Amino acid sequence: MSIEIRGIGKRFGNFVALDNIDLTIPTGELVALLGPSGCGKTTLLRIIAGMESADSGHVLFSGEEATHLHVRDRHVGFVFQHYALFRHMTVFENVAFGLRVKPRHERPGDADIRRRVTDLLKLVQLDWLAERYPSQLSGGQRQRIALARALAVEPKVLLLDEPFGALDTRVRKELRRWLRRLHDEVHISSVFVTHDQEEALEVADRVVVMNQGRIEQIGTPDEVYSTPASPFVYRFLGDVNVFHSRLHGAWAEIDRSPAGLAANGGDGDALAFIRPHDIDIERVEQHGSLAARVQDVHAIGPAVRVELAHGSELIEVELTRERANGLALIRGDQVWLRPRQVRVFAAESAGE
Ligand code: ATP
Repeated sequence: MSIEIRGIGKRFGNFVALDNIDLTIPTGELVALLGPSGCGKTTLLRIIAGMESADSGHVLFSGEEATHLHVRDRHVGFVFQHYALFRHMTVFENVAFGLRVKPRHERPGDADIRRRVTDLLKLVQLDWLAERYPSQLSGGQRQRIALARALAVEPKVLLLDEPFGALDTRVRKELRRWLRRLHDEVHISSVFVTHDQEEALEVADRVVVMNQGRIEQIGTPDEVYSTPASPFVYRFLGDVNVFHSRLHGAWAEIDRSPAGLAANGGDGDALAFIRPHDIDIERVEQHGSLAARVQDVHAIGPAVRVELAHGSELIEVELTRERANGLALIRGDQVWLRPRQVRVFAAESAGE
């Protein structure tokens, strides 16, 4: 089922939680709503679910008006951060629950329920835990059972609100890969709320970056990471260096050297954004390179992080170990920076 959000607005008193949101999710897509705490992700999810009403705008499911549809008529499944399974029921009974409480004419027979639940437990790879109680499961196992329970009633849309938020980093990483594979199997339209950029980039087909009740950018993980539409998206999606720059029409310069094309043209002060791995360091000056002095060098796993001073600006560069070994940098070295990928925003749009 496709989901269309048209001009959705929501206020709590005077506070604007959602400001004219437009978003289309084609059938079978997994979309992540990503943004800092309080940006409106959960409110938007709850409006899609029918658990919250919007002040303005429309929600359409498969092109049909669904704005005022009751939550039980929307065919949505949920998984929340703290989705308490029924403690007095086994894993099997938890997953079967949604099927057992269906109206009599829709309720499958016992044999069908057994088959469906067994299939779902296999899908989430926990069929061997069917007779356990929730208290006998790990946090990660509980969330997988919560997902099996949500899928049992064959929802047309799956809504996940920080489903792995309460788990430790290692389990989170495992579960997001697992969710990605599961989604590739079941292909159900899904909306996944997270404030963790790595999680969104790894799990989603498309990422919706939100900020203060608005959408800043919608794109594939690669698009939002590599070509952020705004300084906010740049900063939110990873480490970034910010250089003072000047715009001359579509061109921008750093230190009077051409640095790249501006994302939005103009004349005057601007800010140039460059990710740490998009800068190379060289020992000799070349046309367009920027002078800098090495402050610190530290190896982090397979990469080497170099901190440098460029005038009064502190710059971080990430090199491969191979490249770093070749350069053999030490504190105090005078070097030259060569940016590979730069995006420039006029200072007023950069908010500084
Ligand atoms: P988090 O990641 O912290 O859950 P979020 O992006 O999901 O944040 P929302 O829960 O959608 O944010 O909340 C958006 C804003 O609306 C917040 O500032 C929140 O305080 C406010 N808000 C949400 N629900 C209500 C409510 N029922 N009454 C008043 N304000 C609310």
